[in-house]
Amino acid sequence: MSSAGTQLATQSSTEARAKLRVLLIEDSRADAELVLRGLRDGGFDVSVDLAQTPEEFRARVKETVPDIVLADYNLGQWRGMEALKILREEGRDVPLILVSGALGDITAVECIKRGATDYVLKDSLTRLPESVRRALREKKLREESRKAEANLAAKAAELARSNAELEQFAYVASHDLQEPLRMVAAYTQLLSERYRGKLDDNADKFLGYASEGAQRMQVLIQDLLAFSRVGRREAPSEKVDCNAVMKEVLQALGAAIQESGAVVTYGSLPAVWADRTQVAQVFQNLIGNALKFRGPEPPRVVVQAERAGQQWLFAVSDSGIGIAPEHRENIFVVFQRLHARTEYPGNGIGLAICKKIIERYGGRIWVESQPGAGSTFRFTMPGEASDPKEEGRK
Ligand code: ADP
Repeated sequence: MSSAGTQLATQSSTEARAKLRVLLIEDSRADAELVLRGLRDGGFDVSVDLAQTPEEFRARVKETVPDIVLADYNLGQWRGMEALKILREEGRDVPLILVSGALGDITAVECIKRGATDYVLKDSLTRLPESVRRALREKKLREESRKAEANLAAKAAELARSNAELEQFAYVASHDLQEPLRMVAAYTQLLSERYRGKLDDNADKFLGYASEGAQRMQVLIQDLLAFSRVGRREAPSEKVDCNAVMKEVLQALGAAIQESGAVVTYGSLPAVWADRTQVAQVFQNLIGNALKFRGPEPPRVVVQAERAGQQWLFAVSDSGIGIAPEHRENIFVVFQRLHARTEYPGNGIGLAICKKIIERYGGRIWVESQPGAGSTFRFTMPGEASDPKEEGRK
């Protein structure tokens, strides 16, 4: 029984024996021995390098990277804490524990503030192994979080690159497709005008479908082009008075407002820092939708804004048909629509453009709605210039 017990103890101490490269700053041989024994007794398989001067220390650190630096506080010629500076200069993230005779509490706290990981008094060296273990664990965590951050930054850069590439592709594709499509549209149109009634009934029907398809494709491509144009230029910021923008938008939507008998009201709206044309586009798309997706009654549309920190929170509310909860996200995706074109006209690009514009300025857009109970589209826009140039102009 006792022999089995001994075996177990030996086994577990071998398993726990972790290799540890120590760089020791110590001018007393006897103290150095004590420190090493403390570590070995505490379960480390220690290899050690000794440094007694700053020059020696720098040379050792350049040669190999230790797992830990154990430094006496006062070595006559220099202080162990100065080793921290050398570690930084050499770009080494190695924990440093002060192992010192007597160190007042105030000095100890000061050393920790300046970057020492811990301090252990020479007359309580039994504490040293645990202090070393903790320092190593903390270093590992630091490394892991540094790695995770670098990983994240690399992923974000990759995403930005692939987004830019996709944007470029959408732009070039939609731009270059326009020309051949114009030919197809023009010639199917010509064919159907010139040969209508001269071939058989089916031919007339087929030509009609072809020319309708070409026209629809033209509209889709123009929409895609408009969508990809939103992100192509640098996001310019000017002070945009939303009241003035609303006046223009209501004029542009004049026919739809009259035809639907709509009442559109807006309170005193703030100025935002963004691109004027794009702000107008957001209002026009949202109010246009509020007029289009109306119920049997003439639509009532209210536009309001309130402060939300540095931003303005806008709300465009309508009394229309509303949106089911499961569609609240996907309506912002390009070409996503909830109705047949015969029911409500449109291509499903308007909200995607709104989202793209708003997100360029660091804002967010979402909808609160219930079917049959109207919808409120909310979005945020920057309220003040984030650019110091703009600040100066105020
Ligand atoms: P479009 O208006 O061309 O269909 P949008 O991207 O502007 O495209 O809108 C996407 C879809 O979101 C619409 O087809 C409609 O189903 C829904 N929608 C947008 N605005 C409203 C609204 N105010 N009320 C109800 N549904 C809406």
